[in-house]
Amino acid sequence: MATTFLPEYRKASHPEQTHFCPGCGHGNILKWVDEAIADVASETIWVSPVGCGGLTDSYLSISHVLAAHGRASAVATAIKRANPDALVIASQGDGDLASIGLLEALHAANRGENITVLFINNANFGMTGGQMAPTTLCGQTTVTCPHGRCEAEHGAPIRVCELLDRLDGPAFIARVAIGTERQILEARRVVKRAIDNQRQGRGYSFVEILSPCPSNWHCSPVEARDRVAQEMIRTFPTGIVRDISREDWVRARQRPSAYDPERVRAPFEALCKPVEVCHGAHCELPLPMSLCCAGFGGQGVMTFGHRVAELALSLGYEATWIPSYGPEMRGGAANCFVRMDARRIASPVVDRPSVLVAMNQPAWDKFVPSVAEHGVALYDSDSVEPLHPVSDSVRRLGIPATSLAMSQNAPRSANMVLLGAFLALAFDVETAHLLALNAEQRRACEAGFSYLTHLPGGPAAYRPRR
Ligand code: SF4
Repeated sequence: MATTFLPEYRKASHPEQTHFCPGCGHGNILKWVDEAIADVASETIWVSPVGCGGLTDSYLSISHVLAAHGRASAVATAIKRANPDALVIASQGDGDLASIGLLEALHAANRGENITVLFINNANFGMTGGQMAPTTLCGQTTVTCPHGRCEAEHGAPIRVCELLDRLDGPAFIARVAIGTERQILEARRVVKRAIDNQRQGRGYSFVEILSPCPSNWHCSPVEARDRVAQEMIRTFPTGIVRDISREDWVRARQRPSAYDPERVRAPFEALCKPVEVCHGAHCELPLPMSLCCAGFGGQGVMTFGHRVAELALSLGYEATWIPSYGPEMRGGAANCFVRMDARRIASPVVDRPSVLVAMNQPAWDKFVPSVAEHGVALYDSDSVEPLHPVSDSVRRLGIPATSLAMSQNAPRSANMVLLGAFLALAFDVETAHLLALNAEQRRACEAGFSYLTHLPGGPAAYRPRR
């Protein structure tokens, strides 16, 4: 008879050598799976969990992937989509699926992925020593609930089959038990059915298997099976929860085509090519340029960064802009980060800005230590005392932005004064006209531009260097 069990494990030659504890249900499950896949072993991919079921590759000669904790359903999804003809089985324990991986499991079920998920529920985290799991029974003691699970304190056990039954996606949901002989025979039949469903393209099949864990339940194998048969099924009733054919539904869905490396290579290569740069008004700052603009919410910090990024794009450069708000509502800390380059930008993260624009004291104190060597720190000298120690290589440039804005009858546009100063540093005067500014903003912007161009040495004296 065909089998996928490795020769060195086959029961006849090494009856006692598995890593499972005596009386554990994992052995039964592997045997049923072996029977169900023996004729398609070469097409079967088993996705193992982190936990006692994670060593399946020691026993079955099929393809294995060990997923990160809780992610087996997600990994199985990816494998199945990339290999639609493969038979993909995810095995997950209750700690793995019902706790850390519940989200992935729910979404795979909801999408109706054509995979088979075997959910081994032994009411505790087995491999790690028997901690409370989402499926631990009320009153059951574990190492983390030594006085027993208390519903008022820990919540009720999660019934995953019933949870999945609320979703439209699954085709087959069942709960079986490794308790009495009759239950075991039924479980074997249902596991085979769930695997056959996938082979027939019927959609997502899920089998919860109530499984004994004598070691962590601190009882004999026989007592553990009795406990499954008599106690566990009171909380987790066995039976077929759903059984519908999703064959048409699975076929009708828009499935992505199989992964083809050639199809993704071309777009990636296009991304790596340098972009065309408009040379009408080139940037005077060394590229790549990174900017941090910081202040309070309401000062126009985000607008400042957004305008710079828009301007860079309209000049043919690449640009990124990331806003960052403090937890407070209006009036709290606000800052944004802009990157600009003639080439594609790999990451928008700015940790060492070459230009800082500080609109208030906390912004100065927080960000000026991060300014890059030979960078420049612009600040509103009406609001900021540049007291914080600054590296000698960083140029400090105070602009009386608030008073200049007031002098232009534009009291809300101190940010535009600073923007004008930045434009004087980075570009020529013409670039200001590329910005979509209203009359008030434009007056303020021109005031900032003019202020900087009339300083001794002009903008060139303050430009960051490499
Ligand atoms: S700890 Fe429990 S689940 Fe793990 S191998 Fe032992 S009996 Fe099986």
